[in-house]
Amino acid sequence: MLDAEGAIRDLSAVCPDINPAFLSGDTFTEVAQLDPASLPVVEGEPRLAEPVAQVGKFICVGLNYADHAAESGMPVPPEPVLFMKATSAICGPFDDVELPRGSEKSDWEVELGVIIGKPARYVAEADAMDHVAGFCVINDLSERRFQLEQHGQWCKGKGCDTFGPFGPYLVTPDEAGDVDNLGIWLELNGERVQDGNTKTMVYKVPFLVHYISQFMSLQPGDIISTGTPPGVGLGMTPPRYLKEGDVMRLGIDGLGEQQQRTVRR
Ligand code: ZN
Repeated sequence: MLDAEGAIRDLSAVCPDINPAFLSGDTFTEVAQLDPASLPVVEGEPRLAEPVAQVGKFICVGLNYADHAAESGMPVPPEPVLFMKATSAICGPFDDVELPRGSEKSDWEVELGVIIGKPARYVAEADAMDHVAGFCVINDLSERRFQLEQHGQWCKGKGCDTFGPFGPYLVTPDEAGDVDNLGIWLELNGERVQDGNTKTMVYKVPFLVHYISQFMSLQPGDIISTGTPPGVGLGMTPPRYLKEGDVMRLGIDGLGEQQQRTVRR
């Protein structure tokens, strides 16, 4: 748990892990009411893992910002475009991102992430937020050649190992504020390439939770990545893609920042 001064407090005596059982149980509510000062401070600078363990589904929404659809040369879809990212793509917010073998067109996408807290099936839009545990930053990394030039669905270019950093925090809705009006940005080697606001999202969070729950049940610990604002490499003239040693820094107002360096192995 992060206290008001930004120090990390050790929750391990209160809950063994932040996982689906924790999110859907009473302990989550109890932890939210804890005084952080009652927990020991974590010393040093430990690696921050992704903030939720055992994610069951990593669902992504494509082309959900009108200006990003335009830069991709695609119309805003009449209904949300959904695709899945392999959960084996998940890594911590400061871990290295590995460019996959054969990668020539790996790209960045900062996105607002939604973490499901309670099962949701055929949920009404008005009730959707009752099923949300919190929000996070996601980098929906994408290998465009695998995604767009190698036939079939987008999953080939979206699910590569380390292509799903999320975190650094699960930010509860009361702390996140108005998620329909948050600055969302990404810097590549110190240059701001994405500089958007969640207010230009076409389909908003309650609608997305409602909409996705018409096709599949959402379970505690599932995450939904809600689409990226403009400024991805694919949309540049000429297109610009990740090289070994590049540094991505990305964040959303109030939800924290991530940083990854790209490597080849
Ligand atoms: Zn995306």
